[in-house]
Amino acid sequence: MAAKSKSKPKHIPQRTCVGCRQVLPKRNLIRVVRTEEGVRIDPTGKLAGRGAYLHDAKRCWEQGLKGSLANALRTSISEQDLVALTAYMDGLPEEAPEEEGAPQARTKIKEE
Ligand SMILES: [Zn+2]
Repeated sequence: MAAKSKSKPKHIPQRTCVGCRQVLPKRNLIRVVRTEEGVRIDPTGKLAGRGAYLHDAKRCWEQGLKGSLANALRTSISEQDLVALTAYMDGLPEEAPEEEGAPQARTKIKEE
C-alpha cells in the first residue's frame, strides 16, 4: 500500500500578542478572557468572553498589564485580578522560548 500523504498547507489561526504586537499562531499564546467575574487566564481557550492573547513571556505580560491588555479587553482590570495575573506572570520565563525568525515556509504542525 503506497499511501502518499500529501501535506496540504493548513490554515493556522493567527493572533496578536497584546504585549509585543507580534502576530503568530494562537497555540503559542496564552488567552486571557474578560468574564463576568473579571479578567481570567484561559489555558483551555474555551472560556466565553472577550479574549486577548499574550506570549508566555514575562516581558509581554509586563507590557500587557501596563494597559494594552485592559485596552484589548475593553475593561479595566481590578486590583484583585491584577494580583492574580501578576502572580501568573511571575512564573513565566523572561522571554518566549520560541524559534525566533523561523520562516513560515516550513510550517510543521504537531498534533497532540
Ligand atoms: Zn508578545
